[in-house]
Amino acid sequence: MKFGGTSVGSAERMRNAGEILAGHAQHFELAVVVSAMGGVTDMLIRAATQASAGDSEHWKNVRRELARRHREVADQLLSAAEQSLVLPRLAAQVSNFENLCSGFSLVREITPRAMDALSSLGEVMSANLMAAILRSLGIAAEAVDSTELIVTDDSFGNASPLFEETTAKTRQRLAPLRKRGVIPVITGFRGATAEGLCTTLGRGGSDFSGTIVGSALDADEVWIWTDVDGVMTADPRLVPEARIIPGISYREAIELSFFGAKVLHPKTILPVMKKKIPVWIKNSFNPSCPGTRIVPSASDGPPGVKAITSLSKANLIMVSGGERLSFGQLASRVFTCLSLEDITSLMVTQSSAENVLCLAVHEADSKRAKTKLEKAFELEIIHDHSASIDVMPHIAIVVAVGEKMKGTPGISGRAFAALGRRAINIIAIAQGSSELSISFAVKSSDVKEAVKAIHEEFGL
Ligand code: ADP
Ligand code: ASP
Ligand code: MG
Repeated sequence: MKFGGTSVGSAERMRNAGEILAGHAQHFELAVVVSAMGGVTDMLIRAATQASAGDSEHWKNVRRELARRHREVADQLLSAAEQSLVLPRLAAQVSNFENLCSGFSLVREITPRAMDALSSLGEVMSANLMAAILRSLGIAAEAVDSTELIVTDDSFGNASPLFEETTAKTRQRLAPLRKRGVIPVITGFRGATAEGLCTTLGRGGSDFSGTIVGSALDADEVWIWTDVDGVMTADPRLVPEARIIPGISYREAIELSFFGAKVLHPKTILPVMKKKIPVWIKNSFNPSCPGTRIVPSASDGPPGVKAITSLSKANLIMVSGGERLSFGQLASRVFTCLSLEDITSLMVTQSSAENVLCLAVHEADSKRAKTKLEKAFELEIIHDHSASIDVMPHIAIVVAVGEKMKGTPGISGRAFAALGRRAINIIAIAQGSSELSISFAVKSSDVKEAVKAIHEEFGL
């Protein structure tokens, strides 16, 4: 069971999570993964960034806030004996934070490696608190640092787990606890390289930690406790009428999370695919609601669109190859360049006659993509002006997802018409050959209206 930031965001929420766990511990053998308390990771990253920019005051305020928030939970929920065990551990993390930030402010620099060690401190603190809360409820539990379980590559900030090593290490480290019936409360978000350097799995990565641990332990199920009733037909913050979806397939979940449905980290499903372990999304604020079950194969339900998602911070990049390059040469150079730079393209369309390739990238990658593409086409651009690279900013990608759209005629037409009626201009459109999703690029300012229009059109 994994608990997200809002589900452990205060003393009250932690008590609630503890009670949920206590209820289920009577029936199941559990392993627990926790996020940092809501807002803590953002706070840590901001503090480090400011410190490295030379602001020597901000991080000192954050240090106080960090200590206060965790201390408050300990004060409210833990016995004196538990407090004497846990408070020194919390204090150790606060001084860890202090040492790192004062270092950043001295050298005016943060390396990705140091940032990972710092940004995942919140998980160490929440795991220690959660384990102590369970003990206070009479349940044997122990905080476990996932740097002792999850072995990753050295892509700091967005590391990938090495599954074989992780499985071996996780089983070995947790076996003695399992034998004694002790519930491990594991830090989400972080792992370590084979050399022991702390890494993180990308923002929102505790979902991924949950399925990595679940897979390593051959769990029967992975339950992700969050602040909504399950995967919904759209982000409820954009579409208040969005409804919960009882069941979706792995592929649908992957597609939705890739295109911005924050309820799941995009890599969450990968670790459970081979073992076909079901993943549940459940609401810690409403635990009696069954939630959404994510299963290996196409789920039941009527044909057509199942959910709408959107990514509002994208740019379109148009690469024009002119007359000197064939379309194949153009495409191969564009994609080689992007893959060498590890830049994800969200959507691709082409006009072979005009020799133009149009692709959408995350806004954060756009500047780098343009610079690198300009380098890749330097000769054509500078010498004979035959190629050009143009960027269209402020783009959103709206995506309709559903395995059962396959073979259902008229879906694009209805979506087009719905957007047309609201005078929303579609800048580009793409549909995967598997018909699992259809993507529309629109202006960022139209995104909310576009999602609502398509949601309504398909009666979701
Ligand atoms: P946690 O802290 O538990 O990991 P997140 O904030 O990362 O929670 O993810 C939950 C949020 O995801 C919800 O509050 C909701 O606003 C957002 N969300 C976006 N798209 C969807 C969707 N299709 N279904 C459910 N929630 C969604
Ligand atoms: N605390 C981390 C973050 O905010 C990981 C997570 O919550 O999933 O990104
Ligand atoms: Mg999350």
